[in-house]
Amino acid sequence: MCIFCKIVDKEIPCTKVYEDEKILAFKDINPSAPVHVLVIPKEHITSVNYINEGNAEVVGHIFTTIAKLAKELGVDESGYRVVTNIGMQGGQSVAHLHFHLLGGRNLGWPPG
Ligand code: AMP
Repeated sequence: MCIFCKIVDKEIPCTKVYEDEKILAFKDINPSAPVHVLVIPKEHITSVNYINEGNAEVVGHIFTTIAKLAKELGVDESGYRVVTNIGMQGGQSVAHLHFHLLGGRNLGWPPG
C-alpha cells in the first residue's frame, strides 16, 4: 500500500486540514512555503497519467476544495500555486495523485 493510502487509512498520522468522503488535505511534512498543503483523492490514483472518464470527478472536487482552503488559509488574495508533479522528470516522489497548495511567500516563476 502506498504511503498516502496509509495516511488515508490512518496507519500513518498526518496534520489534517480537511477531510470528506472522497478527499483528504493535510500539511506537507517538508514544507516549501509557509502554506504547503497536499490535497489527495482517497481512492488510489497514481498520477495525472491515470485520470480518466471513470475517476475524473474527484479532480473537480479537489479544485473546488482547494479554492475554499486557499481562502481559509488566507492566501486567496495574495496568490498561491497549485502543483501536481508527474513521474520521474516531473519530480513526483509519491506515486499517489496529489496537488500541492503552496502560498504565503513570493513563489517566483519559472520553477527550478
Ligand atoms: P511529490 O514530490 O510531488 O511527489 O510530493 C510528495 C510530497 O509529499 C513531498 O512534498 C513530501 O514532503 C510529502 N510527504 C511525504 N511523506 C509525507 C507524509 N508522511 N506526510 C506529509 N507529507 C509527506
